[in-house]
Amino acid sequence: MERLVTGVPYFRPNISEEEIALVESSLRSGWLTSGPRVAEFEAAFAAQVGAKYAVALNSCTAALHLALLAHEIAPGDEVIVPTLTFAATAEVVLAVGGVPVLVDCRPDTLAMDFDAVRLAITPRTRAVMPMHYGGSAADMTSAMAIKAENPQIAIIEDAAHAFPASHELGRIGSIGDSTCFSFYANKTMTTGEGGMLTTDDSKICDHVRRLSLHGLSRNAWSRFETSSSWDYDIVEAGWKYNMTDAAASLGLGQLGRAQELAESRRQIALAYDEAFSAVPGVTPRSAGEISANACHLYVVRVDPSICATDRTGLIETLADRDIGTSVHYRPLHMHSYYAKTRGYQPEDYPVAAQQFEQIVSLPIFPGMTDSEVEAVVKNVTDAVTGRG
Ligand SMILES: *Cc1c(COP(=O)(O)O)cnc(C)c1O
Repeated sequence: MERLVTGVPYFRPNISEEEIALVESSLRSGWLTSGPRVAEFEAAFAAQVGAKYAVALNSCTAALHLALLAHEIAPGDEVIVPTLTFAATAEVVLAVGGVPVLVDCRPDTLAMDFDAVRLAITPRTRAVMPMHYGGSAADMTSAMAIKAENPQIAIIEDAAHAFPASHELGRIGSIGDSTCFSFYANKTMTTGEGGMLTTDDSKICDHVRRLSLHGLSRNAWSRFETSSSWDYDIVEAGWKYNMTDAAASLGLGQLGRAQELAESRRQIALAYDEAFSAVPGVTPRSAGEISANACHLYVVRVDPSICATDRTGLIETLADRDIGTSVHYRPLHMHSYYAKTRGYQPEDYPVAAQQFEQIVSLPIFPGMTDSEVEAVVKNVTDAVTGRG
């Protein structure tokens, strides 16, 4: 069998020499923790997404956790979360003593199904957490309509996949009450580990900032700025979730290239769309208007009744040819922890359970070459048609 390239990783980091120099100069500046680069990164990020405020944190998980606390989600409160998401979206609800109420996904976009969200609302519902699956916006029109009808419900977005992305209501980061982004190593932009919370509410911003630094009355930045004072007051019990200046320096560099990096992923997605439109049994999820999509994931469904292999077989065949893939995600209700503690059966969320058997995420990252894209397409096509 002819091979076009030897292997394609699922993901390859894209760090420029300029970004390395920014991190180096940050280290030389003497600011090892949160300092001027963090403040600069927050301001630049808020401006890019069209939010009034941004707080840089050490992960998206931290941002989600503090968002729930700042929105006063208390023990026993219900928070509606998609079942087809990463662990973090629901575990932060458990961390504050809340009840994650799972809902199914839509079969076309794989995003949270808002008809299901409406049915899941009870008098105890205090938040809905839309997750922008793959990088295309969840149904924020429905989310904001739900909020308008139920002002006690906060809209806290898990935007770990969705920078830079937009919706007809605006850029992701400017729509819900709080939006949480991830700068984990393989996300659309990275600080190694890192996250950002954006909001238009100054009280939420101040509260998240305070909780991120032990609940102290002032953060380390202002503590060192005002030379006079050694004193601080613990206003409430908090956490230690702040970002370092070195991480923020990398973030500033990545932010400057974010549109370029997104464009590169969009070109790859378009090439895959075109190639797979000619392959029966391989159906990309509907991801909407490409220019609005951060294109974090490229997910196809493999229909085993049409293809010569199923999803799992395809992953194995591709692995044999050194082509990396992933699956986003095993639905939460099909994990042993949730099944054990909540008694879930796979068929409780039938769309997610059925889609889970068929989904595979293909390599998509800036800097992926045309021949790498061709190699993925050829190997997928060969495997599903039984030629490979
Ligand atoms: C990556 C991811 C997170 C967590 O991000 P961290 O920055 O690693 O905490 C949360 N939600 C989703 C959907 C993710 O993909």
